[in-house]
Amino acid sequence: MKDLFYDKDKERGKEKTLLKLVEEIGELSEAVLLEDIDKISEEITDVIAWTASIANLLEIDIEKVFFKKYADSCPKCNNNPCSCNLI
Ligand SMILES: [Zn+2]
Repeated sequence: MKDLFYDKDKERGKEKTLLKLVEEIGELSEAVLLEDIDKISEEITDVIAWTASIANLLEIDIEKVFFKKYADSCPKCNNNPCSCNLI
């Protein structure tokens, strides 16, 4: 993602990139409510891509921080699978 988009992301800036992520989350929300699995798949991909763009702009290693928090167990209950109560 960094190779593909970093230069454009840097030019756009983190605030406008964040707005793009929020826009994509809205589109994902609509797709989920419509139960359109093809659209949901597309929007999940876009949400991940824009999240990666923000991480790249802030020099955050998304893979490192993700696996640090979620590699082996739930960060709240420390169980795998998670045994937290549903919200
Ligand atoms: Zn849990």
